[in-house]
Amino acid sequence: MTDHDHHDHDHHDHEHAHAPPQPDDKVHSYYQILGIALKELLIEKGVVSADEVRRQIEHRDSITPANGSLVVAKAWADPAFRQRLLADGNAAVAELGFHMTTTKLVAVENKPDEHNVVVCTLCSCYPRDLLGLPPSWYKSRAYRARVVREPRAVLAEFGTHIADDVALRVHDSTADMRFLVVPMRPAGTEAMSEAELAALVTRDSMIGVSLPDQPGH
Ligand code: FE
Repeated sequence: MTDHDHHDHDHHDHEHAHAPPQPDDKVHSYYQILGIALKELLIEKGVVSADEVRRQIEHRDSITPANGSLVVAKAWADPAFRQRLLADGNAAVAELGFHMTTTKLVAVENKPDEHNVVVCTLCSCYPRDLLGLPPSWYKSRAYRARVVREPRAVLAEFGTHIADDVALRVHDSTADMRFLVVPMRPAGTEAMSEAELAALVTRDSMIGVSLPDQPGH
């Protein structure tokens, strides 16, 4: 049995649902075969069409961390938007044209005395509707297990050193709740536009394992 048996998942939100078989693929895992069989059955029974599957895959593939960067940059530049984002993530990102399909988006803000980091201890839940596919390390057993037990040490391995007097909060994602870290705005960015700010917001800083880029680097 796999991790996916432990809690209910929207399977459209997991990568096995959008890894179409390639003609040159020689070896398929058990779950790839299961996925292909399920897709073929759904198409055969007329539940979905091949065209709908293709369109969904293309939409999924078009989602990148740049979407999240725009959200964070706006939160940095616009205090009212920041408050709306913290109060209701889904509604706030929808203002920018980003739509969470079935999951609740919870934005958590880093502060001088508090740093947030995100994990899915059971499998790979991630705000895919906003950031796209998670990095492979996010899905690794090592990250999932260790970031809960020793978050400061794991972050240090990412080159992120959090002072001992800063509280570290680890957020465990679920099938229906996904987290977005709003990092602290770097110093020296007061004159920057939202587009310039967005360029500083890295994917990993929105997961909480690193900090945004510094201006001028
Ligand atoms: Fe998961």
